[in-house]
Amino acid sequence: MLVIQGRAEKPVYLVISNGFVQIKDAGHLWGMPTDLAQEIIKDEIGDGKARMTCIGAAGEHQIPYASIMGERRAAGRGGAGAVMGVKNLKAIAVRGTKNIDVADPDRFRKAVKETIRKIQGSAQLSRMVKHGTITFLDDLNDHGILPCRNFQEAQTEWAKGLYSGVFEDFIVKHMHCGPPCATRCSKLTLVRSGPYAGAVSEGPEYETLYAIGACCGIADMPALIEADYLCDRYGLDTISFGVSLAFA
Ligand code: SF4
Repeated sequence: MLVIQGRAEKPVYLVISNGFVQIKDAGHLWGMPTDLAQEIIKDEIGDGKARMTCIGAAGEHQIPYASIMGERRAAGRGGAGAVMGVKNLKAIAVRGTKNIDVADPDRFRKAVKETIRKIQGSAQLSRMVKHGTITFLDDLNDHGILPCRNFQEAQTEWAKGLYSGVFEDFIVKHMHCGPPCATRCSKLTLVRSGPYAGAVSEGPEYETLYAIGACCGIADMPALIEADYLCDRYGLDTISFGVSLAFA
């Protein structure tokens, strides 16, 4: 566990390497999008394998729903990015090369094996591998629990199949989000042409598509990938961002 007390006088980032901690100036990174800042930090510390957490402009300005980005994944809920922002902490880079001691390795291995067996026996697995969490959007619509148009509708014809039906066209890579996992629900998506060409996202996940998509009455997948991409770069939680937009 890492506990950060107090706040820095000016923007900094932390580098933790095998328990050794350095505090580095982040003045040049303040205001920078999360993806770029993470790349620059990896470059500066000379370690492309360091794992990162980083805030964007939203956290720096202490927006109540600022996220913390870890590579392309978001710790979105609860405004944790604003906590880093108030501490003037742009990012944390961590690298460890030691082993992780497990109290009972045999029991641990057995539990992992058993869990993987259960996951692979699940009827939902192939859907998760194919489309990730957005596979559930159509189910929610069918069951009348999909928040649409600022929660004014919970089941709509216009949203039927609109998301999962086209999502596959934008997937460039099926992946796991961090250490190897049996589900590999994470999808790297890219918009190749049109006004949002170049937008890239590890997602969007179900939550993003319901909040920025269905809840705002939007079913344009390239626009939604672009919105997800921008939220990640600014470090904004896509759920709160989407429902705020829908309410407005
Ligand atoms: S750990 Fe696996 S199941 Fe969980 S979000 Fe990442 S890829 Fe999906």
